[in-house]
Amino acid sequence: MFRLNENYLKLPGSYLFSTIGKKVGAYSAAHPDKKIIRLGIGDVTQPLAPAIISALHKAVEEMGHGETFRGYAPDQGYDFLRNAIADNDYKARGCDISADEIFVSDGAKCDSGNIQEIFSVDNRIAVCDPVYPVYVDSNVMAGRTGSYDRARETWSNVIYMPCVAGNGFVPELPKETPDIIYLCFPNNPTGAAATREQLQEWVDYACKVGAVIIYDAAYEAYISDENVPHSIYECEGARTCAIELRSFSKNAGFTGVRLGFTVVPEELKCGDVQLHSLWARRHGTKYNGAPYIVQRAGEAVYSPEGKEQLKAQVAYYMKNAHYIYNGLKAAGFTVSGGVNAPYIWLKTPGNMTSWEFFDYLLEKVNVVGTPGSGFGPSGEGYFRLTAFGSYENTVEAVDRIRTLL
Ligand SMILES: *Cc1c(COP(=O)(O)O)cnc(C)c1O
Repeated sequence: MFRLNENYLKLPGSYLFSTIGKKVGAYSAAHPDKKIIRLGIGDVTQPLAPAIISALHKAVEEMGHGETFRGYAPDQGYDFLRNAIADNDYKARGCDISADEIFVSDGAKCDSGNIQEIFSVDNRIAVCDPVYPVYVDSNVMAGRTGSYDRARETWSNVIYMPCVAGNGFVPELPKETPDIIYLCFPNNPTGAAATREQLQEWVDYACKVGAVIIYDAAYEAYISDENVPHSIYECEGARTCAIELRSFSKNAGFTGVRLGFTVVPEELKCGDVQLHSLWARRHGTKYNGAPYIVQRAGEAVYSPEGKEQLKAQVAYYMKNAHYIYNGLKAAGFTVSGGVNAPYIWLKTPGNMTSWEFFDYLLEKVNVVGTPGSGFGPSGEGYFRLTAFGSYENTVEAVDRIRTLL
């Protein structure tokens, strides 16, 4: 008789977004006249830029003619896209990354969940707390995390690195030595960014202890500070210790279109085995490539018109971020993030728990955000607001929240 992968049964239910949905549903059923504004969404709302739409149309048309029809894409992605990525995201920033080191995929969530497959189940992972849940849950499924402590909401075989006000929401080097380190900057959910010096310290540490860093740079396009690196490969030595994940979701609105990529440098080795060859094998065996149409849309992200239009799109969201940050700060709230990321991390007032503040905001001013405790124990007492709404709704929500203090 078949048996289950029992690791799946260890996963605690992820009640965060379903609980939010239920609470908001119950409130709006009881108060149908109230206009609820949602600043909890982690999804973009602006339509695809014209340069991308026109590339999509053109590629669709090509698929309808025998001479230009394309079937399976190359495993690692089309050269036109991988070259555009290597030139624009890496060479233009002085990073020595070649097209051959880029693996095109259907997004960073899948890649961040799948990448752990090429590592032994004995490896010990280190994650930020609070954290994007995929890194931990995918390792739970693989059987790498030990047992779950319900009271503390932590796994016995995971090294948690608290990201709190005291360290500016950038973790300190862990006391125990991890094998795999997950880092995401600019960060979801805190909106914090690591400086070049801070990230260099992590690269030096990983090289010293023989750990690999899995660096999620999904929010790279939101960076405004000069001293915040866009890629981990801006740090010396990163080619021997780091894998980088990127996505077209947040910089170009591809959350529903689906496109991302992973960079695995040739020098990244375990003994004399290249991780590049293992990931290539995994990709070739289990993945048949991102759609041609979508890869052409991705190419348009790097065209002069595409770049211009997407700069404006990111600026639109960041104008929201600044309005939230400045408005709440002026009103007396303690806020961080919002400078290099579309997330504002708000300290709940009056020592309310994250969920108490959620209920309070919903009932008093009809604004929805995300309780920080949903991202990990160190998120307790915090609240995430996102800049992905419309400007009008953002202004109205902030003006309502300001009346509370
Ligand atoms: C949104 C997001 C991603 C992107 O995921 P896709 O699968 O590419 O849409 C990756 N990492 C983090 C932390 C995110 O918030």
